[in-house]
Amino acid sequence: MEPPQESAAGGRKRRRRGGGRNRRKPSSSSQQAPPPAAAPPPPSSPPAKRRRKDGTGQAVATPKRGNTSSLLDKMRARLSGGHFRMLNEKLYTCSGQDAFDYFKNDPNLFDVYHTGYREQMSHWPEQPVNVIINWLKSHNASWTIADFGCGNAAVAKNVENKVFSIDLVSDDPSVIACDMAHTPLEPFSVDVAIFCLSLMGTNYPSYLEEANRVLKPSGWLVIAEVRSRLDPNNGGADPEKFSKAITQLGFSLVSKDEKNKMFILFYFRKKEKSKVAKSIDWPQLKPCLYKRR
Ligand code: SAH
Repeated sequence: MEPPQESAAGGRKRRRRGGGRNRRKPSSSSQQAPPPAAAPPPPSSPPAKRRRKDGTGQAVATPKRGNTSSLLDKMRARLSGGHFRMLNEKLYTCSGQDAFDYFKNDPNLFDVYHTGYREQMSHWPEQPVNVIINWLKSHNASWTIADFGCGNAAVAKNVENKVFSIDLVSDDPSVIACDMAHTPLEPFSVDVAIFCLSLMGTNYPSYLEEANRVLKPSGWLVIAEVRSRLDPNNGGADPEKFSKAITQLGFSLVSKDEKNKMFILFYFRKKEKSKVAKSIDWPQLKPCLYKRR
């Protein structure tokens, strides 16, 4: 299943004044959902019922008396949904270093991003991070974990293990704020490296190289990615090619969990005597972009 369709996001379709005869049936493309983002589109605000043109020629909502505050809330939600989508797109289309510089300059953006992210993820039937947390709980509590692109550090908050939570920026002092291509972790220091929907940057292979650097021999590499990014029928990468590139980095694929509708989970283990291939053919992971209208 693809994420819910954004056409539900009200207020996007323009109404023609006078409607009636001239009202065009929306074409299927104008109602098409954007390609899935890291998460389904934000909940929609219903279209404003009545519209008029103001002096600037922009359509403005004309709230009914008594409805003002709820309408303002909806407009705010739409604005922050738009801001979230812009940040999401930024993260998928720039390098980790650029993302780090961008978020470092305005740490508030991180809150905007994560408020939108949580909202959108609430529409997923299953959260990949919960699947990973359950997997960790059924394994060794003495393992040390590195959570690359930890977001709100849900892994650290829900397992007994020692967890290094890593993200671009955080107001949580336990989170290491850095570009995860270059962490301060020691070589061969962790048993599990997690990337839960976080292989976003255009230089994503360098994040996996960093995980390889910090993982102990036989350590686990657990990756959850948005299904559509790895769907070759829709412009996504071939999951086999993705796995193959990681095996060339020195890992073995132990299992692949494809039963979830929105994401695929890969469980790799670093080889005891891992050797990085001279040249690795990394497939491009399809960025989760929204269509411009
Ligand atoms: N893993 C969390 C959050 C996923 S959202 C969860 O599943 O809930 C993806 C996260 O990756 C975001 O918090 C984003 O800031 C982070 N991220 C993306 N690129 C990064 C980079 N280069 N370095 C560090 N964190 C990064």
